[in-house]
Amino acid sequence: MTETHTATLHDIVSCISGYDPNAMTVARAQAVIQEFITPIEAVEKLAIRSALSRVLARDIISRIDVPAHDNSAMDGYALRGEDVAAGQQVRLQIVGAVHAGEQFAGSVGPGQCVRIMTGAPMPEGCDTVIPQELTTDADAQGVTLPAGRVRPGDNRRLRGEDLALGSVALPRGRVLRPSDIGLLASLGIAEVPVQRRLRVAFFSTGDELRSVGEPLDAGCVYDSNRYTLHGMLTRLGCEVLDMGVVPDDPAALEAAFRSACEEADAVITSGGVSVGAADYTKQIMASLGEMTFWKIAMRPGRPLAFGRIRSRGREAYLFGLPGNPVAVQVSFSFFVRDALLRLAGAEARPLPRLRVKTATAIRKKAGRTEYQRGILAPDENGQWQVRLTGMQGSGILRSMSDANCIIELEHERSDVAAGEEVAVVLFDGLV
Ligand code: AMP
Ligand code: MG
Repeated sequence: MTETHTATLHDIVSCISGYDPNAMTVARAQAVIQEFITPIEAVEKLAIRSALSRVLARDIISRIDVPAHDNSAMDGYALRGEDVAAGQQVRLQIVGAVHAGEQFAGSVGPGQCVRIMTGAPMPEGCDTVIPQELTTDADAQGVTLPAGRVRPGDNRRLRGEDLALGSVALPRGRVLRPSDIGLLASLGIAEVPVQRRLRVAFFSTGDELRSVGEPLDAGCVYDSNRYTLHGMLTRLGCEVLDMGVVPDDPAALEAAFRSACEEADAVITSGGVSVGAADYTKQIMASLGEMTFWKIAMRPGRPLAFGRIRSRGREAYLFGLPGNPVAVQVSFSFFVRDALLRLAGAEARPLPRLRVKTATAIRKKAGRTEYQRGILAPDENGQWQVRLTGMQGSGILRSMSDANCIIELEHERSDVAAGEEVAVVLFDGLV
């Protein structure tokens, strides 16, 4: 990236009263990240099917009315509202039929009606439809409408009621879902401008890490963070650049940071930013740009490095996540996700929180936000409630896999008793 930025990270944090990098609340860290990030601006045109999950780059204005005509919401008979205004039983003469895709050519006078199918345009002069199942004694000539079953205007869809010509059908920044793609198709739009995909580079740091396919030497662990990051970034719609495992070695780390920065819009690393970790990871990060090293009042995921690095005229945002696999996923979910959406030009999409009862008591320290892995399921009475997965240590990767939600325990809260309400964020939703 080569854009020019105005506010420095230093400018932004210096506006925070009592700024202390060692005591950042989750909300404050999120706000700094959001403020520091400038969205990319690079647009490409795509066929609507290929635009799924992409970020819309411009407002889409409807060039037609949808529906294009007043039309019937039911199979039945179209009639003039004044014929049923009195609420009495009436017998109407049938003067024709109209199907979806046709236009009724004749005229409909008082006391007359037209057989009509769902979606068919309303005949001239008709403004009301009585559903077929409410009528009696239909024959070739006429049909009887019982008293009081239909009022003028019933069962008619109005022209433009879905989308009026000239209105904003979809706003820029929308991350396109299947229903949005369908909406675009309903407007007859074949191609849309979208933001180019973000390029996100990531690597793991640590001499103890081995990649899948390598033998596991004594004292070593398999690198899992790169695999979960790969999955999370892919789901977010990013183009991913997996740079492998980088050893705890200053020259190797500097080379990795530089090439990631030259290739990508954002760089994500895991490991090496916690207290006690080899100090030079942080030193190298800081030497390449403007960085902050925070201790966040949260668990898991206390250390977080954030900023922007430069190399050979290129810039990239950098997120240095802790090494623990659960901390990586939680930090990604509550900091990196929103940051990348903002960088991609997406509209803000706060993660929905549900409030449900917890079946288990949960230990909690006031003064930090805690994220626990939960299983949301119905109890024996069909009431949805959440319980903890087993062990909650931040290295227990299985707990993340067993969970279907994250329980978010707010900063001020202390111990939670069974039966109290807690906020949960779901992992998955509708397609
Ligand atoms: P660190 O933040 O580098 O001190 O790492 C904290 C813990 O997370 C250590 O137990 C590391 O072995 C573990 N860890 C670091 N990176 C990874 C990774 N990529 N995959 C799995 N475990 C990791
Ligand atoms: Mg490490």
